Amino acid sequence: MIDFSSDTQTRPTRAMREAVLDAETGDERHDACPTTLDLNRRVAALFGMEAAVFLPSGTMCNEIAIAVHTRPGDEVICARESHIIFAESGGPAALSGVMMHPLDAERGLFTPDQVAAALRPPSSFAPRSRLLVTEQTSNLGGGAVWPVDQLNAVARTARDHGLAAHLDGARVLNASVATGVPAADYARHHDSAWLAFTKGLGCPVGAVLAGSAQFIRDAWLLKRRWGGAMRQTGVLTAMCLHALDHHVDRLADDHAMARDLGADLAAAPIVKRVLPVETNIVVAELADSAPDADTVCARLRERGVKVGRIGRRKLRLLTHLDASVDDARAAVAAVQGLTVEA
Ligand SMILES: *Cc1c(COP(=O)(O)O)cnc(C)c1O
Repeated sequence: MIDFSSDTQTRPTRAMREAVLDAETGDERHDACPTTLDLNRRVAALFGMEAAVFLPSGTMCNEIAIAVHTRPGDEVICARESHIIFAESGGPAALSGVMMHPLDAERGLFTPDQVAAALRPPSSFAPRSRLLVTEQTSNLGGGAVWPVDQLNAVARTARDHGLAAHLDGARVLNASVATGVPAADYARHHDSAWLAFTKGLGCPVGAVLAGSAQFIRDAWLLKRRWGGAMRQTGVLTAMCLHALDHHVDRLADDHAMARDLGADLAAAPIVKRVLPVETNIVVAELADSAPDADTVCARLRERGVKVGRIGRRKLRLLTHLDASVDDARAAVAAVQGLTVEA
């Protein structure tokens, strides 16, 4: 099966597995695993922050950050298509008791004015506006990259009004590789930020959350409480370090493949248009006469190609480490082979 459904569908490379053999390990639960501490320092430096903590998933990074920055009843401002809204199982409500204030965003991006308009004046009637969450790149926004000035401006607007700002940087390195802007510049006006090792970087497990020393101390309490503290994580974090050394620059290859894929898909009869491809995500809107996205995904699966969808009328394809040029060609041929009446 050719799989463009997600950039998480990669297997650890041989070199990545070999990096584990000589990795030093220690008890991560006591913050004493040397390899994991190395990784935490690398990611903290990458974001220009004081400290960082290794976690099993990006979802846990977001949920811990929300819990640390808020109190129950507070309001979180974010794009309507944010991962924290659509894919974290109601975590912000269940774990932190917060309200979401979704903004109508353009491919996941919004403006300082929208943030300002969403802020609630202090009042015992209203929830307390407390946290801004941004996503770089925007996942459901089709891998759109926030221009650094716009990202800094929305975060500053929030902070000027006493809110904290959290950067969901699952794919922040895709943004950096696409633009040349360092992750620290994207994170500059945020209080916390994290990046995923299981997306474009190709690792089997892991994400690292960064922030101030105090924020990370607070995060550790929830990491333990929620069962995210582990033991000899050096066997995991050695792979993450390997990915930082060997899998960052090559994200440019994923982006080039995604651009080609987008251009080819735009010519398929069932496709109305392809959203601009900025990084490794391709979103293709289906022609009005085409079957719905579920049907198209099922037809493609019969032809050995797995793709994702957003809503009922959009296909979503992600390029990644395990996708070859031949895979891309086969996927395009499969989509082009579908007719609008099918
Ligand atoms: C994948 C993703 C997450 C969650 O990461 P997991 O490791 O899958 O829990 C959060 N935010 C964004 C934008 C993502 O793409």
